[in-house]
Amino acid sequence: MGYFQFLFAKEHRMEILRITTVGIASILFWLHILPLSVLLVAIAFGVYSLIKTAVLELVREKKIGTELFISIAVIVGVLGKEYLAAAIVLMIILIAEYIASVNTEKTRASIQDLIGTIPTTITVYRNNKEITVKLESVRVGDIILARTGERLPVDGIIIKGTATINQAPITGESTPQEKKKDDTVYAGTIITTGAINIKVTKLVQDTVFARIIKLVEDAEQNKAPIEKLTDKVATYLIPIAFLFVIGIYWYTRDVKMVIAALIFMSPAELGLATPLVTISAVARAAKEGILIKGGLYLEELAKVDTFVFDKTGTLTTGMPNIQTVTSYDQNYTQNDVLSFAASADRRSSHPIAKSIVAYAAQKKIRLVEPTRFTVVHGRGARATVNGKNVLVGNKKFLTENNIEVSQNATRTTIFVAVNKRVIGAITINDTIRPEAKKAIEALRKSGVKHFVMLTGDNEESAQTVARAIGITEWKANLLPEEKIDYIKKLQKHGRIVAMVGDGINDAPALAQASIGLAMGAIGTQAAMEAADVVLVNDNLLKIARAKAISKRSYRTIKENVFVGVGVVHVIGITLVLLRIIGPVEAAAIHLVPDVAVLLNSVKLLRVNIQ
Ligand code: ADP
Ligand code: MG
Repeated sequence: MGYFQFLFAKEHRMEILRITTVGIASILFWLHILPLSVLLVAIAFGVYSLIKTAVLELVREKKIGTELFISIAVIVGVLGKEYLAAAIVLMIILIAEYIASVNTEKTRASIQDLIGTIPTTITVYRNNKEITVKLESVRVGDIILARTGERLPVDGIIIKGTATINQAPITGESTPQEKKKDDTVYAGTIITTGAINIKVTKLVQDTVFARIIKLVEDAEQNKAPIEKLTDKVATYLIPIAFLFVIGIYWYTRDVKMVIAALIFMSPAELGLATPLVTISAVARAAKEGILIKGGLYLEELAKVDTFVFDKTGTLTTGMPNIQTVTSYDQNYTQNDVLSFAASADRRSSHPIAKSIVAYAAQKKIRLVEPTRFTVVHGRGARATVNGKNVLVGNKKFLTENNIEVSQNATRTTIFVAVNKRVIGAITINDTIRPEAKKAIEALRKSGVKHFVMLTGDNEESAQTVARAIGITEWKANLLPEEKIDYIKKLQKHGRIVAMVGDGINDAPALAQASIGLAMGAIGTQAAMEAADVVLVNDNLLKIARAKAISKRSYRTIKENVFVGVGVVHVIGITLVLLRIIGPVEAAAIHLVPDVAVLLNSVKLLRVNIQ
């Protein structure tokens, strides 16, 4: 929607009417055409909405806002017989409030614009016929048809056809992805070429896209500390401000000066300075596939000086390669080793487990459904397979369970034990993500000083990965609890720690850190919930982007608060006391930070952030 449509939208008619009424009445009164009584009626009409808002805020939120200050200023003006000054001040403030509310609405609406909207109709197969229906009538399990150029309205799995799909609206990645049968496709993404039949798995409100929109909308509720601080400062300042104004009146008996002082005393932009930045920054990040769950995390991320990374699945790819399968026991073949491992790990969501299962499937090995399956985070899995007690995991896991392992593990090695004896091992090529080194460098450039890698894997693998990407501090063989302890230790030394993990088995560490970032969270609800910042796809460079965006927004907040509000108000009050400016000039000058703060915040939606 264009700016002017917003400016003159229906819901704003009343506000425009108030502004013009007060404005015209002031001019006519000044020209001696209008009697005082009519001007007073116009003022009453204009100030009514301000008083209403002021009282509501005071009663409901215990908050003293601009409206209260301006209402009092206008009442003081009328009582002090400075009718014209009161009317003009009122008009200017009404204009300021109006511009502010329009801009806030426009910013909110631009979130939708940025991410886009999904279509409301859809083509489905019903009784062997293609029909176009309203989105509401589609059910999970329906087969829908999507062709080139269309935007998908639901999440689903391709059952026929191939397509290249632009996933930018939800992942921020610009290169279209090739998708074929059995691949998952997401609402909000666009088919650039091809035609596919999709089986619906998630309806409108449950899609990843819908969750992204919801996260962005809710982001406003998690206030940044600086915002709470400005709220608090405003609360303290107010009684002082009133005493100050009473003092001015006591000494000068100058009503005009009192009105002018009241205008500069109001904490107007403080209230606006941060939320708008939050909305803009969160929307901006969402467009790049980075979901920041609120102003709180924006500020924390801006201040972070230490980044802690999980290794497996975070710094290394989510789908590691199986390198070798070895049997140590004559009674078992290689395939038996793989079969036990894959069966035991069948229900685990760990990236290594998924790789083993996928590898077994590729080798056409029949898997057994495990009974009594338990995951031991940071170690492996324990299961009963065909009545046998099976352990799959790292060396530590087996030795802790009193199973002797004489073999040495250099690279990432998964040992398989059956009934308390090691029968074989699987080595894993834990491939480092190609962008890992670049991502660390980018973070270093944006001011992060310390990098730590914490892993449950062995020392050798840890060292290889850390060295390859330029991390000098690492710790191997850690259990999830020990990762938490390590983060706590860093925090005790005054570090502000961000933890990057996969969000599934790292959830506790993500929670312990000042800010938790989950990677590649598309489709995994748990990860999306556990983290404060969610990277929709699993590109490590996005972490540096998130840091850059948050740093830039925090700077904007500080500019708004200290320069926009602080400086203008201090100078304003000084000028008022020196009798250089009166109430009308004060109201006009007051518009400057109002507008400046708005522009400065909304700018975040567009500027190039490095
Ligand atoms: P990281 O801290 O690097 O992400 P994890 O704590 O997830 O690693 O796992 C540490 C080690 O424990 C892995 O390198 C692997 O040897 C072993 N492990 C963990 N979970 C499993 C599993 N489900 N199957 C086999 N091995 C596992
Ligand atoms: Mg992990």
